[in-house]
Amino acid sequence: MSLLVREHRTVRFVFLGAAGVGKTALITRFLQDRFDSKYTRTVEELHALEYDTDGARVRVEILDTSGSYSFPAMRALCIRTGDAFALVYAADEPDSLEEVQRLREEILELKGEKFTGITVIENKADLGSRSRQATAEVIRAVEEDWGAGFVETSARTGENVTGVFRDWLQQMKLPSRVSPALRRRTQTMSREITETREKPPMKKNNSCILS
Ligand code: GDP
Ligand code: MG
Repeated sequence: MSLLVREHRTVRFVFLGAAGVGKTALITRFLQDRFDSKYTRTVEELHALEYDTDGARVRVEILDTSGSYSFPAMRALCIRTGDAFALVYAADEPDSLEEVQRLREEILELKGEKFTGITVIENKADLGSRSRQATAEVIRAVEEDWGAGFVETSARTGENVTGVFRDWLQQMKLPSRVSPALRRRTQTMSREITETREKPPMKKNNSCILS
């Protein structure tokens, strides 16, 4: 093998959480530094960033999921193929926090009790303290009982959005801000899965893009 063949790694970061909590908005804020207040339902979208570091090329994949998870097998595949997870809930949606607990249980079931790559995100911090669910008790439970990271973000204002990605990218010794050059090299692939009764969407490779 040629000495010029460099190490090539791929790591996949998966966003999970109820529909409407801001998964797509957080990813858009991180990758493009913009915010869109209109809601477009995501099906499944994979973003890829290519980093060149000393002697290695690293492909960082960010998987955006739909949040409706009508197909448990699809969700399980997203979990199996993920290396780290952002479990997102919205400050003003108590049910979405409960969904985070269910998702964490499913991740541990599939990845093993000792799995540590989870960050819990309370998004929509801009809605003000009255809709905040991140009580000291919630934060303690996440950080101490779960051993997971906890971040409060606003995709609308941009608050803490980089923080979501920062620790995780730092662990891989990659820059946590997307440089303009890298932004141009970001590819996005989306899969349209139409969830209609007449046309069953579960084609074999419709789950977790390129997994
Ligand atoms: P997803 O289904 O989890 O991908 O949620 P989206 O990213 O599509 O966001 C759902 C809705 O919430 C959209 O109308 C967004 O504009 C809005 N939204 C997302 N993030 C925030 C935020 O931080 N603050 C506020 N106020 N609205 C947000
Ligand atoms: Mg979405």
